[in-house]
Amino acid sequence: MAILEVQNLKKQYGKSKVFAVNDISFSVNEGEIFALIGSNGAGKTTTLRMISTLLQISSGDAIVNGFSVIKQPEKVRECITYLPDEAGAYKNMTGIGYLKFMAGMFSTDSNTIDQYVQTAIKTSTLGERINDKISTYSRGMIRKLLLSRAIMTKPKLAILDEATSGLDVINALEIRQMIKDLAHNDGMSFLLSSHNMLEIEFVSDKVGIMAHGNLMVMGTPKNLKQRYNAPNLEEVFERVVKHNEIL
Ligand code: ATP
Repeated sequence: MAILEVQNLKKQYGKSKVFAVNDISFSVNEGEIFALIGSNGAGKTTTLRMISTLLQISSGDAIVNGFSVIKQPEKVRECITYLPDEAGAYKNMTGIGYLKFMAGMFSTDSNTIDQYVQTAIKTSTLGERINDKISTYSRGMIRKLLLSRAIMTKPKLAILDEATSGLDVINALEIRQMIKDLAHNDGMSFLLSSHNMLEIEFVSDKVGIMAHGNLMVMGTPKNLKQRYNAPNLEEVFERVVKHNEIL
C-alpha cells in the first residue's frame, strides 16, 4: 500500500521562470525507504518541504496515507515527521527535558508520553549524556537527539533531509541501521535526501535521482546499477547528472 503518492508536483519560487521542482511523481510504500539524491540545488529540500506541508505547492499534489497535502494538510501533519537538514534544539534544555517537552506536544496521556520518551532515549544512544544540557552536546549528538525525537511517535512517514549529516562513520552506521529496522520491522516509511551515495546504497529500497528540478531516473539501487552496468550508485549518479544519460 502506498503511504506517499507524489503527483505531478511543481514548485516555482516567486516570479522565477524556472521550476525548482518540475512535475515530479513517485510513490513510497508502507515499510519502504525512498531516497532522493541530486546535486546542490536539484530540488530535494523543496520537494521534502512541500510534502511536509511547510511550503506552498505551485501545482500537483502529494497524498500521504490517503490525505491530500493541499486539501487536508492538518491530517497529513498527524501522519508525518519532518527533520530539516539544519535543525536545532533548545540549547538550554537537557536532552531528556527536550524529549519530554516534545512528547507532550503529541499526547496528553502520561503513559504514552513516557513510552515516546523511552523510545527516543533508546534510539538516541546518548546514555547518561541525555541528562546534560544540549548546549554541551556535539553536532552529532544533537543530530541523534533530533532524529530520535523525529521517530519517537513512530509516524507513518518520516521525512528526513540529510538524515546523517554531521555524524561520524560509526554513528551514521547506527542511524542507518535504525532507519532500516524501523522500516522493515515496524512498517514505518521513510523519504530521505542525501549526498552520501554509500549511505543511499545501503539504506534505500528505492532511489530517485534529481537534477534541475526533474526526477531523471528511479529504481532500486540494484536495478539502477544493472541498468547502467555500473559498479556503484556514484557512477550511475554521475552518468545521469553530468552526462544526462537516461536509460
Ligand atoms: P542542496 O543539496 O544544496 O540542499 P536541494 O536539492 O535541496 O539542494 P533546493 O534547496 O530544493 O535544492 O533548491 C532548488 C532550487 O530552488 C535552487 O535553484 C534554489 O536556488 C531554489 N530555491 C530554494 N529555496 C528558495 C527560496 N526560498 N526562494 C527562491 N529560490 C529558492
